[in-house]
Amino acid sequence: MKLEEIMVKDVIRISPDDNTAGAAKRMREKRVGCLVVTIGQTIKGILTDRDLLNCLSEAHNPYQCRVSNHMTTPVIVEKPGEELLRAVEVMAQRRIKRLPVVIDGKIVGIVSFSDISRVMHEQAQSFWSTWVSITSLARAQALHCRSPENPASYH
Ligand SMILES: [Zn+2]
Repeated sequence: MKLEEIMVKDVIRISPDDNTAGAAKRMREKRVGCLVVTIGQTIKGILTDRDLLNCLSEAHNPYQCRVSNHMTTPVIVEKPGEELLRAVEVMAQRRIKRLPVVIDGKIVGIVSFSDISRVMHEQAQSFWSTWVSITSLARAQALHCRSPENPASYH
Protein backbone atom coordinates (compact mmCIF):
# COMPACT_ATOMS: atom_id res chain seq x y z
CA MET A 1 0.00 0.00 0.00
CA LYS A 2 1.24 3.47 -0.89
CA LEU A 3 0.98 6.73 1.03
CA GLU A 4 -1.27 8.33 -1.61
CA GLU A 5 -3.90 5.70 -0.79
CA ILE A 6 -4.23 6.71 2.84
CA MET A 7 -2.98 10.29 3.04
CA VAL A 8 -5.36 13.04 4.11
CA LYS A 9 -5.48 15.60 1.31
CA ASP A 10 -7.12 18.37 3.30
CA VAL A 11 -3.96 19.61 5.03
CA ILE A 12 -4.47 22.30 7.66
CA ARG A 13 -1.90 24.98 6.89
CA ILE A 14 -0.58 28.21 8.34
CA SER A 15 1.87 30.86 7.21
CA PRO A 16 5.28 31.23 8.94
CA ASP A 17 4.45 34.94 9.44
CA ASP A 18 1.25 34.25 11.40
CA ASN A 19 1.50 34.59 15.17
CA THR A 20 1.36 31.67 17.55
CA ALA A 21 -1.97 32.84 19.04
CA GLY A 22 -3.44 32.47 15.53
CA ALA A 23 -1.86 29.01 15.25
CA ALA A 24 -3.44 27.93 18.55
CA LYS A 25 -6.83 29.20 17.38
CA ARG A 26 -6.51 27.34 14.08
CA MET A 27 -5.56 24.06 15.81
CA ARG A 28 -8.55 24.39 18.13
CA GLU A 29 -11.00 25.25 15.30
CA LYS A 30 -9.81 22.40 13.09
CA ARG A 31 -9.31 19.98 16.01
CA VAL A 32 -5.76 19.09 15.00
CA GLY A 33 -2.53 18.98 16.97
CA CYS A 34 -0.34 19.93 14.06
CA LEU A 35 -0.20 22.53 11.30
CA VAL A 36 1.83 22.39 8.13
CA VAL A 37 3.63 25.69 7.63
CA THR A 38 3.53 26.77 4.01
CA ILE A 39 4.10 29.73 1.74
CA GLY A 40 1.71 29.15 -1.15
CA GLN A 41 1.88 25.38 -1.63
CA THR A 42 5.54 25.12 -0.63
CA ILE A 43 6.22 23.44 2.70
CA LYS A 44 8.43 25.44 5.08
CA GLY A 45 8.00 23.62 8.37
CA ILE A 46 5.68 21.88 10.78
CA LEU A 47 4.18 23.27 13.99
CA THR A 48 2.73 21.05 16.72
CA ASP A 49 0.80 21.75 19.90
CA ARG A 50 4.01 21.01 21.77
CA ASP A 51 5.74 23.89 19.97
CA LEU A 52 2.96 26.18 21.21
CA LEU A 53 3.59 25.00 24.77
CA ASN A 54 7.25 25.97 24.33
CA CYS A 55 6.14 29.42 23.21
CA LEU A 56 4.06 29.81 26.38
CA SER A 57 6.69 28.37 28.70
CA GLU A 58 9.27 30.78 27.30
CA ALA A 59 6.85 33.60 28.20
CA HIS A 60 6.62 34.93 24.65
CA ASN A 61 3.74 37.18 23.66
CA PRO A 62 1.67 34.86 21.43
CA TYR A 63 0.25 37.87 19.57
CA GLN A 64 3.75 38.93 18.57
CA CYS A 65 5.63 35.68 18.35
CA ARG A 66 5.68 34.22 14.86
CA VAL A 67 5.07 30.64 13.82
CA SER A 68 8.53 30.65 12.18
CA ASN A 69 10.13 31.01 15.67
CA HIS A 70 8.80 27.63 16.77
CA MET A 71 8.24 25.51 13.68
CA THR A 72 10.42 22.48 13.02
CA THR A 73 12.43 22.81 9.86
CA PRO A 74 13.63 21.17 7.70
CA VAL A 75 10.69 18.79 7.60
CA ILE A 76 10.98 15.08 6.97
CA VAL A 77 8.71 14.35 4.00
CA GLU A 78 7.85 11.48 1.70
CA LYS A 79 6.54 11.14 -1.84
CA PRO A 80 2.96 9.94 -2.52
CA GLY A 81 4.33 6.76 -4.17
CA GLU A 82 6.29 5.74 -1.06
CA GLU A 83 5.37 2.41 0.52
CA LEU A 84 3.43 2.60 3.77
CA LEU A 85 5.83 0.30 5.61
CA ARG A 86 8.81 2.45 4.61
CA ALA A 87 7.00 5.49 6.02
CA VAL A 88 6.32 3.65 9.28
CA GLU A 89 10.05 2.89 9.51
CA VAL A 90 10.96 6.56 8.98
CA MET A 91 8.41 7.70 11.57
CA ALA A 92 9.71 5.22 14.13
CA GLN A 93 13.36 6.14 13.52
CA ARG A 94 12.74 9.88 13.65
CA ARG A 95 10.14 9.60 16.43
CA ILE A 96 7.56 11.61 14.52
CA LYS A 97 3.82 11.05 14.44
CA ARG A 98 3.03 12.84 11.21
CA LEU A 99 4.59 12.81 7.78
CA PRO A 100 3.79 15.44 5.15
CA VAL A 101 3.54 14.09 1.59
CA VAL A 102 5.04 16.33 -1.07
CA ILE A 103 5.70 16.50 -4.80
CA ASP A 104 8.64 18.79 -5.64
CA GLY A 105 8.39 20.53 -2.27
CA LYS A 106 4.66 21.21 -2.67
CA ILE A 107 2.33 19.78 -0.08
CA VAL A 108 -0.22 17.25 -1.40
CA GLY A 109 -1.22 15.43 1.79
CA ILE A 110 -0.26 14.25 5.24
CA VAL A 111 -0.24 10.88 6.96
CA SER A 112 -0.44 10.48 10.70
CA PHE A 113 0.48 7.57 12.87
CA SER A 114 -3.19 7.17 13.88
CA ASP A 115 -4.26 6.93 10.19
CA ILE A 116 -1.64 4.24 9.61
CA SER A 117 -2.64 2.19 12.64
CA ARG A 118 -6.31 2.40 11.59
CA VAL A 119 -5.46 1.11 8.08
CA MET A 120 -3.30 -1.68 9.50
CA HIS A 121 -6.11 -2.66 11.85
CA GLU A 122 -8.62 -2.75 8.96
CA GLN A 123 -6.22 -4.83 6.86
CA ALA A 124 -5.76 -7.28 9.71
CA GLN A 125 -9.54 -7.55 10.06
CA SER A 126 -10.04 -8.12 6.33
CA PHE A 127 -7.28 -10.74 6.42
CA TRP A 128 -9.11 -12.56 9.22
CA SER A 129 -12.53 -12.38 7.55
CA THR A 130 -11.00 -13.78 4.33
CA TRP A 131 -9.34 -16.50 6.38
CA VAL A 132 -12.64 -17.35 8.08
CA SER A 133 -14.54 -17.58 4.77
CA ILE A 134 -11.82 -19.79 3.24
CA THR A 135 -11.83 -22.16 6.20
CA SER A 136 -15.64 -22.30 6.35
CA LEU A 137 -15.73 -23.00 2.61
CA ALA A 138 -13.19 -25.79 3.08
CA ARG A 139 -15.28 -27.12 5.95
CA ALA A 140 -18.48 -27.04 3.85
CA GLN A 141 -16.71 -28.87 1.03
CA ALA A 142 -15.36 -31.42 3.42
CA LEU A 143 -18.89 -31.96 4.78
CA HIS A 144 -20.21 -32.28 1.25
CA CYS A 145 -17.56 -34.84 0.33
CA ARG A 146 -17.95 -36.81 3.51
CA SER A 147 -18.51 -40.41 2.86
CA PRO A 148 -21.81 -41.58 4.43
CA GLU A 149 -20.30 -45.00 5.06
CA ASN A 150 -17.54 -43.60 7.11
CA PRO A 151 -18.77 -40.40 8.90
CA ALA A 152 -15.88 -40.58 11.33
CA SER A 153 -13.46 -39.68 8.54
CA TYR A 154 -14.39 -36.06 8.88
CA HIS A 155 -13.63 -33.99 11.97
ZN1 LIG B 1 7.03 32.10 20.94
